[in-house]
Amino acid sequence: MNLKHLYMETFGCQMNVSDSERIVAMLAAVGYIHNPALKQADLILLNTCTVRGGAEEKVYKRLENLRALKKSNKRLVIGVGGCVAQHEGDLLLEKFPWVDLVFGTHNLHLLPEMVTAAESGQRSSETAFIDNDQRLDLFPSVQGSSRVSSFVTVMQGCDNFCSYCIVPFVRGREISRRASEILTEVNKLAAGGVKEIVLLGQNVNSYGLNAPDQPSFVELIRQIACIDGISRIRFTTSHPKDMSDELIDCFARIPKLCGHIQLPAQSGSNAVLERMNRGYTRESYLDRIGALKSARPGIVITGDMIVGFPGETEEDFEQTLALIEEVRYADLYSFVYSPRPGTKAAELAEEIGREQKQARLDRLLLVQRRITLEINSSFTGSVQSVLVEGLGKRPGQVSGRADSGKTVNFIGNPCLIGSIVDVRIIAAYQNSLVGELI
Ligand code: SAM
Ligand code: SF4
Repeated sequence: MNLKHLYMETFGCQMNVSDSERIVAMLAAVGYIHNPALKQADLILLNTCTVRGGAEEKVYKRLENLRALKKSNKRLVIGVGGCVAQHEGDLLLEKFPWVDLVFGTHNLHLLPEMVTAAESGQRSSETAFIDNDQRLDLFPSVQGSSRVSSFVTVMQGCDNFCSYCIVPFVRGREISRRASEILTEVNKLAAGGVKEIVLLGQNVNSYGLNAPDQPSFVELIRQIACIDGISRIRFTTSHPKDMSDELIDCFARIPKLCGHIQLPAQSGSNAVLERMNRGYTRESYLDRIGALKSARPGIVITGDMIVGFPGETEEDFEQTLALIEEVRYADLYSFVYSPRPGTKAAELAEEIGREQKQARLDRLLLVQRRITLEINSSFTGSVQSVLVEGLGKRPGQVSGRADSGKTVNFIGNPCLIGSIVDVRIIAAYQNSLVGELI
């Protein structure tokens, strides 16, 4: 087979990262090797994100940049997939005549065929949602991983319809993968040397709720914890309204479940939470946080926050700041609200100007950076068990993650990659810790 080069660029969330891994594996079967050198590419694929307006603009800018490449190499094939492709469909072929193929979030399996057609000059777009039976048979599966930690997709789509969010429209309705398939995959990964499994989904803790023949998410975690070779389990993302007592109890009872949770609040104000259609209040959110902290003392909490949602007053925003102080997030992904077409919130009047939204975000970041550094500094002097994942940025260093999810760099032999070692923390920075091997 004549080997051709695939250049793949991924925008957005871990779902897209996981889809891109699957695409690379699928196209390897039809002769494409993954090559990060853009200029050598025979096929360029962009796996895109549309969760905020800025993310979508980035994709359009990238597509403009690719125009010249196509002009100088007529045989080059350019494809767009992921959430922008799902949302825009055929329009992308019209707007960007140098794009050859557009594939939606449910159509990854059609890619090899579409690429072959594009090689002989046929442009195509496939963005239809497929039915649940077919979706169940086509769940992204990891064939093997050279890494120490691997994502395993357990569910796809979302039924929550938070009023600001485009995800349910571009990823479709929620569906839980068959547990038997998940367990087979984790067993395979463990046999191949993977030590850590990150269970992936838009809303993992509603796993199984719409599939009575499948075990609950708690049961799934218990079963994965019984697999030899798997030392650590994480999951992302959780929705506070589905954070059951039973799931929280797992943090007390299952030592393999890491002491970190990503639990996005999005706002600290009840009025805003209601307009966001989040399905919980500030009080019930704090109740879940309290229960998590009791179940696993020292648990590290991270989250997402949106500032400048339509109608957010200064008082609402101050409640968000107060929530951040109360929860003490170790890290926060915070965003300025961006109206998305087709969502309920996009119909609400935007009373807050761009500058005011940015000013609020800046204030929030200042608070969060201080807390992050305080939390990171509190690890100084402690001994952390670190799963070594790869080489560090500095010569002689290796890098890994503590149970809390914090990145730890230390001087060590690369043969440590894949093992869990004890490391004493000697310095703390904004984004990582530095330690020494004990
Ligand atoms: N399902 C996850 C959840 O509920 O937390 C993640 C969904 S989304 C891919 C990641 C984050 O993007 C959200 O948690 C939210 O903070 C942010 N986001 C979503 N829509 C947004 C919008 N219209 N404007 C600004 N931020 C948005
Ligand atoms: Fe979007 Fe809400 Fe679903 Fe997360 S839970 S993907 S924010 S609709």
